[in-house]
Order: sequence, then structure tokens, then C-alpha cells
Amino acid sequence: MFIVLLGPPGAGKGTQAQRIAAASQLLHVSTGDMFRENVKNETGLGKLAKTYMDRGDLVPDEVTISMLLERIGRPDAAAGAMFDGFPRNVVQARALDDALAARGSRIDRALLIAVADAELVARLGGRWICRNCGALYHERNDPPKQAGTCDRCGGDLYQRDDDLPAVVSARLEKQKPPEALIEHYRASGVLREIDGERSLDAVTASLLEAIG
Ligand code: AMP
Repeated sequence: MFIVLLGPPGAGKGTQAQRIAAASQLLHVSTGDMFRENVKNETGLGKLAKTYMDRGDLVPDEVTISMLLERIGRPDAAAGAMFDGFPRNVVQARALDDALAARGSRIDRALLIAVADAELVARLGGRWICRNCGALYHERNDPPKQAGTCDRCGGDLYQRDDDLPAVVSARLEKQKPPEALIEHYRASGVLREIDGERSLDAVTASLLEAIG
């Protein structure tokens, strides 16, 4: 069985991928993890990937696709895998489809963890930091007793530039799955949308049910 996991940043995709891999025995293939491993080991691929990753940009398709195809050519991926962070666009999706078709397989399910944009901005952008002591707060999950003031030391709270709503929205637009990619899987009948605005356990249960 081959599964693709799709979701915007803040949807809990990484956490769910680990839970599903543990519960289903499916091999977990994360291109983000593979790139980070290469960066850590300072390989040629890692050095190249880092220049893109540091800017929040995608690594070029040809590099990413060849890394992924090499990975699924190994024996432990013969029976199936769950792809996390791949594909990011239609070009990558087609390359994966072709590689699987060449061995008589296909993507069986594309699971989209759906969370509304406003909710993602609230999740990703609600962080406030104390200017004086560095204490962290989250507007909704862990708010200070009095907005704008640190509980611990009374210092002023501020938002980091990259946590400001406008910046978070821009990051979301850059990193959420493009509509054409979702449509690619909808058209082939394998897409399942899972409501990601529920508890972690409820989302895991729905994902496992969709895998069947
Ligand atoms: P992730 O952990 O999936 O958020 O990936 C971290 C970073 O690795 C991304 O911001 C990209 O720079 C790069 N990356 C991961 N997967 C891909 C992919 N399928 N295509 C291009 N770049 C990717």
C-alpha cells in the first residue's frame, strides 16, 4: 500500500505521520527528514538543499525526485510506504505515479489533513515573548493573565517578526499543498479529506480508518 499524506504547516502532519507509521507498520518516507539528515552529515546534497531550506523554499524538483526514487527503490519499500512531505507539486506527483506504475503499483490513498487558514494562522502566529525574561506564551493555548504583560516578571510581551499574522499568512501560502496537487489526487479518486480541527487522537483515528 502506498499512501501520500498532505497538509499545510500547522495541521499536525508530522505528528500524525509518526502515529500512523507506528500503528500501521508502513515505512515512513519523509523528504524533509532525508534533507535534514543530509544537511547534518554535510553531504553535497545537504549543502545544496540547505540553501533552499533556509529560505523556506522548495528544493528543485529534479534533485528531490531523484532522491525519492532512489529511496523507494530499496527493498524495505517494496511492499509500501507512507510519503510525508512528498509530493509538493504536480510534477513530483507524476514522477511518483510513473515510478510506481513501472512496478505495477499506484498511490492507494492521498490523505489531506484539512484545517482552515484562519485556524492555521491562529496556531502558527499566536506566540508572544517577554522582552525582559524571554518567557513564551500562546494567545490561545497558554495566554498570559493580562494581555501584553508577562506573568512571571511583568515585562512587555512582543511578537517575533516571523510570528506576525501577515508573515505567517505568507509562509502558509508558500508551503500549503497547491490546489492542483489536491485536484490531481481527487481526479484519480484516492483523495480523502480528514477534518484536522479536532483532537490529535480523533484525527489519527480518522486517518487510520481512511487507510482501512
Ligand atoms: P518538511 O519537513 O516537509 O517541512 O521539509 C523541510 C524543507 O525541506 C522544505 O521547506 C523544503 O525546503 C525541503 N523539502 C522537503 N520535501 C520537499 C519536496 N517534496 N520538494 C521540495 N523540497 C522539499
